[in-house]
Amino acid sequence: MPLDLGRTNRLFSPGQRKALAIRDKECRADGCTIPSTWCEADHVDPWSAGGKTDLDNAILLCGHHHHLIHDGRCLHQRMSNGDLRFTRRTSRPRDPPYRSSHAPHSASESRHSSSAWSAATAWGAGVSSAQSER
Ligand SMILES: [Zn+2]
Ligand SMILES: [Zn+2]
Repeated sequence: MPLDLGRTNRLFSPGQRKALAIRDKECRADGCTIPSTWCEADHVDPWSAGGKTDLDNAILLCGHHHHLIHDGRCLHQRMSNGDLRFTRRTSRPRDPPYRSSHAPHSASESRHSSSAWSAATAWGAGVSSAQSER
């Protein structure tokens, strides 16, 4: 099983995660010390933008920083040592709305849309209770 999957697979394999745990040891966000066992593998160059599922393009992030990397209100830079530095985007009224090209790429990311899901569920429940009242 090769450790570099290139464009053949969108998800990091268990073998790659193991290799990343050895390489990164902990969340690669600057100053974060969450151990690798609690981290998720993320594409540095987003898969949707042609990023490869290679160890070179993989980075371990804890749940918190993984969420931040998908959050349009935060910017991140890759530092020379490979760590990511997050900065909160200062909002200027005339900035165009930020659109992330970093698409979800693993099952663990479904929670990114959990608030939308629960809103839909609440909406569905509201509809059915409205119907039962008729
Ligand atoms: Zn991600
Ligand atoms: Zn972290």
